[in-house]
Amino acid sequence: MVIPTVYIYLQLTFLIIINIYYMFNFIIFGPPGSGKGTQSAKIAEKYNLAHISTGDIFRKNIKEKTELGLKVKSIIDSGELVPDELLIDILKDAINSYSGVRGFIFDGFPRTIRQADEFEELLKSKNQKVSLVLSLKVDDEEIITRLMKRAEEQGRLDDTREVIENRLKVYHRQTEPLIEYYKKKGKFESIYGIGTIDEIFSNICKVIDRYI
Ligand code: ADP
Repeated sequence: MVIPTVYIYLQLTFLIIINIYYMFNFIIFGPPGSGKGTQSAKIAEKYNLAHISTGDIFRKNIKEKTELGLKVKSIIDSGELVPDELLIDILKDAINSYSGVRGFIFDGFPRTIRQADEFEELLKSKNQKVSLVLSLKVDDEEIITRLMKRAEEQGRLDDTREVIENRLKVYHRQTEPLIEYYKKKGKFESIYGIGTIDEIFSNICKVIDRYI
């Protein structure tokens, strides 16, 4: 009787360890309007990953007029970044709301070096690490054209020309330094983000397949 119990216990422990070590933590990176959200939905479906978009979380909170939503609305509407100290708890809650997934796609996070450092710590405490950072390369001119079009279609308050230009400035100043940060860690890949949605998706999958 003792042996089967011990055997089952060992098997369970093994499965838990495998699960911890093989969580695929994928960061999709790029300027606003580079197609992160569109591609994330397709990647999540194909690879059974949970898609966590900090932008979507904020927009939901703004829509529902929660305390967080009221706090961040004017910041987001002006194209600035939400203060770093708010991010990590939001992320922890988002991660904890899923169970039984193979991994995560982080879309819109991290956006600053401080967020990336805190994220490393958080993953380390769970015996995990970032598996891959994939950047979508799109130039500023194309970004402005795309976001002006999105403004007409979706009416997002942070898609006016002035705010778009500010978001790009903020991206170059605060978020782009993360490229060097992750290059140094040897887990950074980049692909050209202009083309059809399916072409770009297929190029993304080729990269993911080398890591997953
Ligand atoms: P984008 O289309 O610019 O990629 P998102 O939908 O990802 O936009 O985010 C919209 C806004 O939400 C950002 O401009 C920013 O104000 C806020 N935001 C989202 N994620 C973060 C983050 N990780 N840190 C700070 N602010 C964030």
